[in-house]
Amino acid sequence: MGVKIIERTDSAYSYPLLIRNLLSNSLMRSPDQEIIYRDKMRYTYRELHARVAKLANALEDLGVKQGDTVAVMDYDSHRYLECYFAIPMMGAILHTVHIRLSPEQILYTINHAEDDVILVNSELLPLLEPIMDKVETVKKIILIKETDKDPEISISFDDEYESMLKNQSSEFNFPDFDENARATTFYTSGTTGNPKGVYYSHRQLVLHTFGLMTGLCAFDSQGIMNSGDVYMPLTPMFHVHAWGMPYLFTMLGNKQIYPGRYEPEMILNLIVKEKVTFSHCVPTIIHMLVNSPVINKVDLSNWKVVIGGSALPKGLCTAAMKANINIYSAYGMSETCPLLTVAHIKPHMREWDEEKQIDIRCKTGMPIPLVDLDIIDPMGNPVPHDGEHTGEVVVRAPWLTQGYLKNHEKSEELWRDGWLHTDDVGNIDKEGYLKITDRLKDVIKTGGEWVSSLELEDIISQHNAVSEAAAVGIPDEKWGERPVILVVLKDEFKGQDLEDELKQVFVKQFELGNLPKYGIPDKIMFVDSIAKTGVGKLDKKLIRTQVKK
Ligand code: AMP
Repeated sequence: MGVKIIERTDSAYSYPLLIRNLLSNSLMRSPDQEIIYRDKMRYTYRELHARVAKLANALEDLGVKQGDTVAVMDYDSHRYLECYFAIPMMGAILHTVHIRLSPEQILYTINHAEDDVILVNSELLPLLEPIMDKVETVKKIILIKETDKDPEISISFDDEYESMLKNQSSEFNFPDFDENARATTFYTSGTTGNPKGVYYSHRQLVLHTFGLMTGLCAFDSQGIMNSGDVYMPLTPMFHVHAWGMPYLFTMLGNKQIYPGRYEPEMILNLIVKEKVTFSHCVPTIIHMLVNSPVINKVDLSNWKVVIGGSALPKGLCTAAMKANINIYSAYGMSETCPLLTVAHIKPHMREWDEEKQIDIRCKTGMPIPLVDLDIIDPMGNPVPHDGEHTGEVVVRAPWLTQGYLKNHEKSEELWRDGWLHTDDVGNIDKEGYLKITDRLKDVIKTGGEWVSSLELEDIISQHNAVSEAAAVGIPDEKWGERPVILVVLKDEFKGQDLEDELKQVFVKQFELGNLPKYGIPDKIMFVDSIAKTGVGKLDKKLIRTQVKK
């Protein structure tokens, strides 16, 4: 299926949609507006522009050229924001390293992305040190010093971030180039062992920024943003460019607060001190804050929070609203840049009572403009939008990834019949709101991070007492889901209490750097048999309902 070109009108100048064009306007509009890093650093947009140029000059001095890949391992910071702009604006590719993966997985991503340079925060060096001798393409390593202390580590650095910027010019002639050039890459872990690389072009990121702006700033609804908002991200900058929000709020010249490592007290202090009015996060973060003892001592009545990454449970939404937080859901995925839908309340729903409005806030949302979204049955036929029938969610939008980096097979699976297949299942009601009800992908999502159930099954199946095993996620108030393993023991081991011994198998994989800590299952259940589908596969849907009981 292709797009028919009816008549082409060439414009005078074929203006490329480049990330550079998202930055330029803010200097004119908000030169003195502030960008803040924890309680450590504050500077103006004037300085941001100068530092972006300095960083590009410094990277050029290091030998970075168009098409090279520069990896960043940092917490949410002003430096990360500088990298979001400087690296792609030079024509290089920004690899935002997923620092919550296990060291072995991080190593895989660095080698797979063919990183040329790594910028690494001193507090994250313990992740890099054990894998350094297996890193293949990296030529330069730059230290980002979080404190004045020199790290005691065996890695030798080519420079330090601040000293590298110090004597550089605050001008850089950022070139024009093809808007379809790759700008960013990051990795998402899924059902199979190795994380998959997702990538975006300049054009996709620019269009997504404008999509975000219409989706979050244009409609007459609750929780609408504009350039007067004070923005603080609470989804990590390594994950889908913090949902693309730093691009949007830099374009609009907002005051921005970067919280560094997520610590509840620091986050709440920043919200109060800097008068933060907008953030976005996974439900676990709000759960952590709402349950923090200081929650009742702070005024959060001006704080709008968009929840994504997992469904927003009604209980959590109600608790957050009791704390005066203006909370609502949005939906997207790594492969969709990410924004697809937002759960805004339509004007006529303002008359509804709070309970009914909470139902809407906890839905997955309405597609934002330019997002074509539907639900289909297994034959590919559309399913009625009656709020009851469910189908797989398929999407099209100008900002969806074309596939997985260097993985043709998985890319073909992602895009079928001209639609990106989300592997999510949901219904759409008569008002047009999507509600995700299930997942086709066999993965567990805990605290916003994926754990591969196949990998957990693979690990446990290697223990000689195990005849058969299944890993599923069960609902958890704090983490969304937690992994649980069902095990059928071999006859000769039946009746033995092996729970601790089997748990240790996962702990060992964690210690070896093969499994992230959040992947260690909380519980192992011993059963006589495990439910199968008609074709003999593990029936995860049925198993999940059995385990929940
Ligand atoms: P990720 O690629 O890690 O961002 O995860 C994307 C996946 O998270 C989606 O495909 C959904 O399964 C899930 N997800 C994201 N947002 C929501 C939401 N608002 N409600 C339910 N599930 C969600």
